[in-house]
Amino acid sequence: MKYRSIAIDGPAGAGKSTVAKELAKKLNYVYIDTGAMYRATTYKAISLGIDLTNPYSYGFLENTNFVFRSGELHMDGVNMTVLNRLKEVADNVSLVSSHVPVRNKLVQLQQKIAKKNNVVMDGRDIGTVVLKDADLKIFMIASVHVRAKRRYEELQSLGSKQTLEELEEDIQRRDAYDSSREYNPLKQASDAIPIDTSDISIEEVTDLLYDKFMRKIKGE
Ligand code: C5P
Repeated sequence: MKYRSIAIDGPAGAGKSTVAKELAKKLNYVYIDTGAMYRATTYKAISLGIDLTNPYSYGFLENTNFVFRSGELHMDGVNMTVLNRLKEVADNVSLVSSHVPVRNKLVQLQQKIAKKNNVVMDGRDIGTVVLKDADLKIFMIASVHVRAKRRYEELQSLGSKQTLEELEEDIQRRDAYDSSREYNPLKQASDAIPIDTSDISIEEVTDLLYDKFMRKIKGE
């Protein structure tokens, strides 16, 4: 059986995860937050005290278990939703995710999930690397200010004390790093549809993508 997939890429805070989660719910597909996998890897690397700069010190990934339940990532049986949002994780995740062995391992896991499920997957390299044959590819963008504000509201609800200015800086730093890394950088796939979410609500984007997807699979 061929499973269907939707790939949503874009910079931090463009609204990818909220849209992807809603869309997955509407379609009864599995939502895969690949950023959460890179964050959880970073969290575990920090906890183990390994040298984060060495691409070959991530052998622990061979014995790490990633499971998505209702859109939330559990690593080694622990729900990562709050832990993943720690500042120390945000400060190091772009470095960790620039390592080739880390990317290869996580991409392999992501592809394995998509082989057995209908998925909505969001990240940076989904349309270009992970799901090159996705039924629909979207590249979401928004102004830095709007993106920082969204992340600020999300983090406040999780009890974070980070300021809006700190988040603007964090987003700009990570965008620069993610777009300029050599291996699988953040890039729009040539067949992805660009959507600027600065001035439209997340609900409107979700409805728009739902309609686009339904038309596509009906062959209209
Ligand atoms: O999506 P989120 O902002 O949680 O992603 C955190 C970080 O993980 C990104 O800034 C990027 O460095 C990395 N990432 C990646 N490839 C993906 C998803 C996330 O490199 N597919």
